[in-house]
Amino acid sequence: MLQLLDGKATALQIKEEIANEVRSLTAQGHRAPHLAAVIVGTDGASMTYVANKEKASHEVGFTSSVYRMSETTTEKQLLETIEFLNNDPDIDGFIVQLPLPKHIDEQRVINAISPDKDVDGFTPVNIGRMVLGEECFTPATPMGICTLLRRYGIETAGKHCVVLGRSNIVGTPVANLLSRKGFDCTVTMCHSKTQNLKALTLQADILVVAIGKAEFVTADMVKEGAVLVDVGIHRVEDATKKNGYRVIGDVKHGEVDAKCSWVTPVPGGVGPLTIVSLLQNTMQAYRKRL
Ligand code: NAP
Repeated sequence: MLQLLDGKATALQIKEEIANEVRSLTAQGHRAPHLAAVIVGTDGASMTYVANKEKASHEVGFTSSVYRMSETTTEKQLLETIEFLNNDPDIDGFIVQLPLPKHIDEQRVINAISPDKDVDGFTPVNIGRMVLGEECFTPATPMGICTLLRRYGIETAGKHCVVLGRSNIVGTPVANLLSRKGFDCTVTMCHSKTQNLKALTLQADILVVAIGKAEFVTADMVKEGAVLVDVGIHRVEDATKKNGYRVIGDVKHGEVDAKCSWVTPVPGGVGPLTIVSLLQNTMQAYRKRL
Protein backbone atom coordinates (compact mmCIF):
# COMPACT_ATOMS: atom_id res chain seq x y z
CA MET A 1 0.00 0.00 0.00
CA LEU A 2 1.28 3.44 -0.92
CA GLN A 3 2.45 5.63 1.96
CA LEU A 4 3.60 9.23 1.91
CA LEU A 5 7.01 10.48 2.95
CA ASP A 6 5.34 13.61 4.27
CA GLY A 7 7.90 16.40 4.14
CA LYS A 8 5.51 19.04 5.38
CA ALA A 9 4.62 17.15 8.56
CA THR A 10 8.23 16.11 9.20
CA ALA A 11 9.42 19.69 8.68
CA LEU A 12 6.85 20.97 11.17
CA GLN A 13 8.01 18.44 13.74
CA ILE A 14 11.71 19.34 13.31
CA LYS A 15 10.94 23.07 13.41
CA GLU A 16 9.19 22.52 16.72
CA GLU A 17 12.26 20.69 18.05
CA ILE A 18 14.53 23.56 16.93
CA ALA A 19 12.18 26.22 18.34
CA ASN A 20 12.18 24.43 21.72
CA GLU A 21 15.98 24.35 21.79
CA VAL A 22 16.21 28.04 20.82
CA ARG A 23 13.64 28.98 23.49
CA SER A 24 15.56 27.09 26.13
CA LEU A 25 18.94 28.63 25.15
CA THR A 26 17.62 32.20 24.92
CA ALA A 27 15.88 31.73 28.29
CA GLN A 28 19.34 30.98 29.68
CA GLY A 29 20.50 34.36 28.36
CA HIS A 30 22.11 33.32 25.08
CA ARG A 31 21.48 35.31 21.92
CA ALA A 32 19.30 33.78 19.18
CA PRO A 33 20.94 31.98 16.23
CA HIS A 34 21.39 34.28 13.23
CA LEU A 35 20.98 33.11 9.62
CA ALA A 36 21.65 35.57 6.79
CA ALA A 37 20.91 35.30 3.08
CA VAL A 38 22.33 37.18 0.11
CA ILE A 39 20.22 37.54 -3.00
CA VAL A 40 21.44 39.18 -6.21
CA GLY A 41 18.75 40.36 -8.64
CA THR A 42 15.00 39.84 -8.62
CA ASP A 43 14.46 36.34 -10.03
CA GLY A 44 10.95 35.31 -8.91
CA ALA A 45 11.76 31.76 -7.78
CA SER A 46 14.88 32.92 -5.90
CA MET A 47 12.93 35.65 -4.12
CA THR A 48 10.30 33.09 -3.08
CA TYR A 49 12.99 30.71 -1.77
CA VAL A 50 14.65 33.48 0.25
CA ALA A 51 11.30 34.69 1.62
CA ASN A 52 10.50 31.09 2.69
CA LYS A 53 13.86 30.78 4.43
CA GLU A 54 13.27 34.07 6.22
CA LYS A 55 9.81 32.95 7.33
CA ALA A 56 11.10 29.59 8.59
CA SER A 57 13.91 31.35 10.50
CA HIS A 58 11.40 33.54 12.31
CA GLU A 59 9.16 30.57 13.08
CA VAL A 60 11.93 28.87 15.05
CA GLY A 61 13.09 32.05 16.80
CA PHE A 62 16.20 32.79 14.72
CA THR A 63 17.36 36.27 13.85
CA SER A 64 17.25 36.55 10.07
CA SER A 65 18.74 39.14 7.74
CA VAL A 66 18.60 39.40 3.97
CA TYR A 67 21.16 41.30 1.89
CA ARG A 68 19.40 42.30 -1.32
CA MET A 69 21.78 43.32 -4.11
CA SER A 70 20.89 44.60 -7.57
CA GLU A 71 21.18 42.56 -10.78
CA THR A 72 24.11 44.80 -11.82
CA THR A 73 26.15 44.04 -8.68
CA THR A 74 29.74 43.29 -9.65
CA GLU A 75 31.54 40.14 -8.56
CA LYS A 76 33.88 42.34 -6.51
CA GLN A 77 30.97 43.93 -4.61
CA LEU A 78 29.46 40.51 -3.90
CA LEU A 79 32.82 39.18 -2.69
CA GLU A 80 33.11 42.20 -0.37
CA THR A 81 29.67 41.44 1.10
CA ILE A 82 30.73 37.83 1.66
CA GLU A 83 33.90 38.98 3.36
CA PHE A 84 31.80 41.19 5.64
CA LEU A 85 29.48 38.28 6.53
CA ASN A 86 32.45 35.94 7.08
CA ASN A 87 33.77 38.37 9.68
CA ASP A 88 30.54 39.51 11.34
CA PRO A 89 30.58 37.83 14.79
CA ASP A 90 26.77 38.13 15.10
CA ILE A 91 26.10 35.91 12.09
CA ASP A 92 26.30 32.14 12.60
CA GLY A 93 25.74 31.13 9.00
CA PHE A 94 24.71 32.52 5.64
CA ILE A 95 23.70 31.43 2.19
CA VAL A 96 24.14 33.01 -1.22
CA GLN A 97 20.99 32.27 -3.20
CA LEU A 98 21.77 30.62 -6.55
CA PRO A 99 21.70 31.06 -9.48
CA LEU A 100 23.74 34.25 -9.70
CA PRO A 101 23.64 36.60 -12.72
CA LYS A 102 25.75 35.32 -15.61
CA HIS A 103 28.50 37.94 -15.23
CA ILE A 104 29.40 36.55 -11.78
CA ASP A 105 31.55 33.43 -11.38
CA GLU A 106 29.41 31.24 -9.11
CA GLN A 107 32.19 28.91 -7.99
CA ARG A 108 34.49 31.83 -7.11
CA VAL A 109 31.72 33.23 -4.93
CA ILE A 110 31.07 29.88 -3.22
CA ASN A 111 34.80 29.43 -2.61
CA ALA A 112 34.86 32.79 -0.79
CA ILE A 113 32.33 31.68 1.86
CA SER A 114 33.95 30.71 5.14
CA PRO A 115 33.46 26.91 5.55
CA ASP A 116 32.47 27.59 9.18
CA LYS A 117 29.49 29.69 8.05
CA ASP A 118 28.65 27.71 4.90
CA VAL A 119 25.29 26.36 6.13
CA ASP A 120 24.32 25.41 2.56
CA GLY A 121 27.28 23.02 2.57
CA PHE A 122 28.40 24.09 -0.92
CA THR A 123 32.06 25.00 -0.33
CA PRO A 124 34.77 22.56 -1.45
CA VAL A 125 35.88 22.19 2.19
CA ASN A 126 32.43 21.04 3.34
CA ILE A 127 31.93 18.77 0.33
CA GLY A 128 35.37 17.26 1.01
CA ARG A 129 34.54 16.72 4.68
CA MET A 130 31.24 15.12 3.72
CA VAL A 131 32.93 12.67 1.33
CA LEU A 132 35.45 11.77 4.05
CA GLY A 133 32.63 11.28 6.58
CA GLU A 134 33.93 14.11 8.78
CA GLU A 135 31.79 16.60 10.66
CA CYS A 136 30.49 19.12 8.11
CA PHE A 137 27.53 21.12 6.91
CA THR A 138 25.72 18.67 4.66
CA PRO A 139 24.09 20.22 1.55
CA ALA A 140 20.49 20.96 2.50
CA THR A 141 18.46 19.03 -0.09
CA PRO A 142 20.43 15.75 0.19
CA MET A 143 20.34 16.12 3.98
CA GLY A 144 16.56 16.57 3.80
CA ILE A 145 16.20 13.40 1.72
CA CYS A 146 18.29 11.44 4.25
CA THR A 147 16.21 12.85 7.13
CA LEU A 148 12.97 11.74 5.47
CA LEU A 149 14.26 8.20 4.85
CA ARG A 150 15.50 7.97 8.46
CA ARG A 151 12.44 9.43 10.17
CA TYR A 152 10.13 7.09 8.25
CA GLY A 153 12.35 4.11 9.05
CA ILE A 154 12.91 3.20 5.40
CA GLU A 155 15.19 0.18 5.13
CA THR A 156 18.25 1.21 3.12
CA ALA A 157 21.03 -1.29 3.93
CA GLY A 158 21.94 -3.32 0.86
CA LYS A 159 19.18 -1.74 -1.21
CA HIS A 160 19.86 -0.63 -4.76
CA CYS A 161 19.41 3.12 -4.90
CA VAL A 162 19.33 4.72 -8.34
CA VAL A 163 19.91 8.48 -8.39
CA LEU A 164 18.86 10.37 -11.52
CA GLY A 165 21.05 13.49 -11.81
CA ARG A 166 24.59 14.34 -10.78
CA SER A 167 24.40 18.04 -9.87
CA ASN A 168 26.72 19.35 -7.17
CA ILE A 169 23.79 20.38 -4.98
CA VAL A 170 21.57 17.27 -5.20
CA GLY A 171 22.55 14.18 -7.23
CA THR A 172 26.25 13.90 -6.38
CA PRO A 173 25.96 14.51 -2.61
CA VAL A 174 22.86 12.36 -2.15
CA ALA A 175 24.53 9.47 -4.01
CA ASN A 176 27.52 9.85 -1.72
CA LEU A 177 25.51 10.04 1.50
CA LEU A 178 23.32 7.03 0.72
CA SER A 179 26.32 4.87 -0.16
CA ARG A 180 28.06 5.65 3.15
CA LYS A 181 28.10 3.45 6.27
CA GLY A 182 24.82 3.93 8.07
CA PHE A 183 22.68 4.05 4.94
CA ASP A 184 24.67 1.31 3.15
CA CYS A 185 22.86 1.50 -0.17
CA THR A 186 24.40 0.24 -3.38
CA VAL A 187 24.15 3.37 -5.48
CA THR A 188 23.97 3.88 -9.23
CA MET A 189 24.20 7.51 -10.34
CA CYS A 190 22.71 8.37 -13.73
CA HIS A 191 23.05 11.46 -15.94
CA SER A 192 22.24 12.69 -19.41
CA LYS A 193 24.77 10.35 -21.07
CA THR A 194 23.54 7.23 -19.26
CA GLN A 195 22.52 4.48 -21.67
CA ASN A 196 19.47 2.25 -21.11
CA LEU A 197 18.22 4.46 -18.30
CA LYS A 198 14.96 2.55 -17.95
CA ALA A 199 16.81 -0.75 -17.45
CA LEU A 200 18.54 0.86 -14.46
CA THR A 201 15.55 2.66 -12.93
CA LEU A 202 13.60 -0.60 -13.08
CA GLN A 203 16.20 -2.13 -10.73
CA ALA A 204 15.81 0.62 -8.13
CA ASP A 205 14.55 -0.28 -4.67
CA ILE A 206 14.97 3.43 -3.92
CA LEU A 207 14.69 5.87 -6.81
CA VAL A 208 15.84 9.47 -6.23
CA VAL A 209 14.91 11.74 -9.12
CA ALA A 210 16.68 15.09 -9.50
CA ILE A 211 16.98 15.79 -13.22
CA GLY A 212 15.03 19.02 -13.56
CA LYS A 213 12.65 17.72 -16.26
CA ALA A 214 8.95 17.94 -15.48
CA GLU A 215 7.19 14.55 -15.14
CA PHE A 216 10.11 12.75 -16.81
CA VAL A 217 9.73 9.50 -14.83
CA THR A 218 6.75 7.45 -15.94
CA ALA A 219 5.17 4.26 -14.55
CA ASP A 220 6.98 1.94 -16.99
CA MET A 221 10.33 3.10 -15.48
CA VAL A 222 9.54 2.16 -11.88
CA LYS A 223 9.73 -1.20 -10.10
CA GLU A 224 6.69 -2.41 -8.15
CA GLY A 225 7.12 -1.49 -4.45
CA ALA A 226 9.91 1.05 -4.97
CA VAL A 227 10.56 3.96 -2.61
CA LEU A 228 10.36 7.09 -4.73
CA VAL A 229 11.93 10.45 -3.87
CA ASP A 230 11.00 13.24 -6.27
CA VAL A 231 13.26 16.29 -5.89
CA GLY A 232 11.97 18.18 -8.95
CA ILE A 233 10.13 21.48 -8.67
CA HIS A 234 8.42 23.02 -11.70
CA ARG A 235 5.76 25.70 -11.87
CA VAL A 236 3.14 25.14 -14.55
CA GLU A 237 0.32 27.51 -15.43
CA ASP A 238 -3.00 26.52 -13.95
CA ALA A 239 -5.92 28.89 -14.31
CA THR A 240 -7.91 26.98 -11.67
CA LYS A 241 -5.41 28.04 -8.99
CA LYS A 242 -5.64 31.33 -7.15
CA ASN A 243 -2.00 32.22 -7.93
CA GLY A 244 -2.29 30.99 -11.53
CA TYR A 245 0.13 28.06 -11.26
CA ARG A 246 0.68 24.70 -9.61
CA VAL A 247 3.86 22.89 -8.72
CA ILE A 248 4.81 19.53 -10.24
CA GLY A 249 7.89 17.32 -9.93
CA ASP A 250 10.25 15.27 -12.09
CA VAL A 251 7.88 12.29 -11.73
CA LYS A 252 4.45 11.72 -13.29
CA HIS A 253 2.80 11.03 -9.95
CA GLY A 254 -0.65 10.35 -11.38
CA GLU A 255 0.51 7.09 -12.97
CA VAL A 256 3.66 6.25 -10.94
CA ASP A 257 2.56 6.49 -7.31
CA ALA A 258 0.29 3.42 -7.36
CA LYS A 259 3.34 1.21 -8.08
CA CYS A 260 5.36 2.51 -5.12
CA SER A 261 5.55 1.62 -1.44
CA TRP A 262 6.59 5.13 -0.37
CA VAL A 263 6.51 8.42 -2.26
CA THR A 264 7.47 12.05 -1.60
CA PRO A 265 4.59 14.23 -2.81
CA VAL A 266 5.22 17.40 -4.84
CA PRO A 267 4.75 19.89 -3.30
CA GLY A 268 5.18 18.97 0.36
CA GLY A 269 7.90 16.31 0.04
CA VAL A 270 11.57 17.18 -0.26
CA GLY A 271 11.06 20.97 -0.48
CA PRO A 272 10.08 21.65 3.17
CA LEU A 273 12.93 19.44 4.38
CA THR A 274 15.46 21.46 2.39
CA ILE A 275 14.63 24.59 4.37
CA VAL A 276 14.60 22.70 7.66
CA SER A 277 18.05 21.25 6.91
CA LEU A 278 19.33 24.79 6.51
CA LEU A 279 17.93 25.62 9.95
CA GLN A 280 19.55 22.48 11.40
CA ASN A 281 22.91 23.45 9.88
CA THR A 282 22.54 26.96 11.32
CA MET A 283 21.88 25.44 14.77
CA GLN A 284 25.03 23.36 14.35
CA ALA A 285 27.05 26.51 13.51
CA TYR A 286 25.46 28.42 16.40
CA ARG A 287 26.12 25.71 19.01
CA LYS A 288 29.83 25.78 18.06
CA ARG A 289 29.93 29.53 18.63
CA LEU A 290 28.05 29.59 21.95
P1 NAP B 1 20.55 20.28 -12.59
O1 NAP B 1 21.73 21.00 -12.02
O2 NAP B 1 19.85 20.81 -13.79
O3 NAP B 1 21.01 18.79 -12.87
C1 NAP B 1 20.21 17.89 -13.56
C2 NAP B 1 20.90 16.57 -13.67
O4 NAP B 1 20.04 15.68 -14.36
C3 NAP B 1 22.21 16.62 -14.45
O5 NAP B 1 23.18 15.85 -13.80
C4 NAP B 1 21.85 16.02 -15.81
O6 NAP B 1 22.89 15.29 -16.41
C5 NAP B 1 20.75 15.04 -15.42
N1 NAP B 1 19.84 14.78 -16.54
C6 NAP B 1 19.24 15.69 -17.33
N2 NAP B 1 18.49 15.07 -18.26
C7 NAP B 1 18.63 13.75 -18.06
C8 NAP B 1 18.12 12.60 -18.69
N3 NAP B 1 17.31 12.68 -19.76
N4 NAP B 1 18.47 11.39 -18.21
C9 NAP B 1 19.29 11.28 -17.14
N5 NAP B 1 19.81 12.34 -16.48
C10 NAP B 1 19.49 13.56 -16.95
O7 NAP B 1 19.42 20.08 -11.50
P2 NAP B 1 19.42 20.16 -9.88
O8 NAP B 1 19.88 21.48 -9.45
O9 NAP B 1 20.05 18.93 -9.32
O10 NAP B 1 17.85 20.08 -9.64
C11 NAP B 1 17.05 19.01 -10.10
C12 NAP B 1 15.60 19.31 -9.83
O11 NAP B 1 15.40 19.44 -8.43
C13 NAP B 1 15.08 20.62 -10.41
O12 NAP B 1 13.72 20.44 -10.79
C14 NAP B 1 15.18 21.60 -9.26
O13 NAP B 1 14.24 22.66 -9.37
C15 NAP B 1 14.85 20.71 -8.12
N6 NAP B 1 15.40 21.11 -6.82
C16 NAP B 1 14.56 21.00 -5.76
C17 NAP B 1 15.02 21.28 -4.49
C18 NAP B 1 14.09 21.11 -3.34
O14 NAP B 1 14.31 21.67 -2.30
N7 NAP B 1 13.04 20.31 -3.50
C19 NAP B 1 16.33 21.71 -4.29
C20 NAP B 1 17.18 21.79 -5.39
C21 NAP B 1 16.71 21.46 -6.66
P3 NAP B 1 24.26 15.98 -16.93
O15 NAP B 1 25.09 16.18 -15.69
O16 NAP B 1 24.84 14.97 -17.85
O17 NAP B 1 23.86 17.27 -17.58
